[in-house]
Amino acid sequence: MAKVLIIEDEPNMVIGLKDSCEYEGYEVSVARNGKEGLEKASTEKPDIILLDVMLPLMSGIDVCRTLRTRGIDTPILMLTARSQEIDKVVGLEVGADDYVTKPFSIKELLARIRAHLRRAAKQVVEIESFTFGDVELNFKRYAARKGGRALELSAREFEILRYLIRHRGEIVTRDQLLDEVWGYESSPVTRTVDNHIAKLRQKVEQDPSAPQHIITVHRLGYRFLE
Ligand code: CA
Repeated sequence: MAKVLIIEDEPNMVIGLKDSCEYEGYEVSVARNGKEGLEKASTEKPDIILLDVMLPLMSGIDVCRTLRTRGIDTPILMLTARSQEIDKVVGLEVGADDYVTKPFSIKELLARIRAHLRRAAKQVVEIESFTFGDVELNFKRYAARKGGRALELSAREFEILRYLIRHRGEIVTRDQLLDEVWGYESSPVTRTVDNHIAKLRQKVEQDPSAPQHIITVHRLGYRFLE
């Protein structure tokens, strides 16, 4: 589950951002001033930071600059007010990755968060091979074996497994899988994901009716366990 750190002092803004991020399935941490934000950004290792510019004790600009000088390269999305046009420029200069201007649409903000998280995840070294139970996967050659015998998997099935394995232990939603595995090439429905998972279980699970690796998380999605 991706961790979002919200550094913001306006109570209503905090509530709105926190609710929306939690609804998306992110783990949320909040800091209400610049100093606390800097501390949490360093110690809690969030996956992305939403950083307000006008903050008590230390400005968002200074928080951003300090984090970058310390070598912390977590994606930072600045929240600027329309009247603070200059902050965007300065923000990007001190190392912010992106900004949104208040008032912003929450949908837009969430899309940006997803995009940044996706970009950051791609930078993680790709898994070349992986073994679970009696299944061996080689993602480089798109080859698989189960119990020592060749196992036929489609390219799509490899990609689903790759994504689940990369996020093993975490809840992966159907929307995430659609975004990551199907992309925007077509507009499949979430049912498509379930059908593929069912087929995949037939191939890799010892007992597909009682899966040990590709677990259903009720109403949320799936979780991969080794
Ligand atoms: Ca503020």
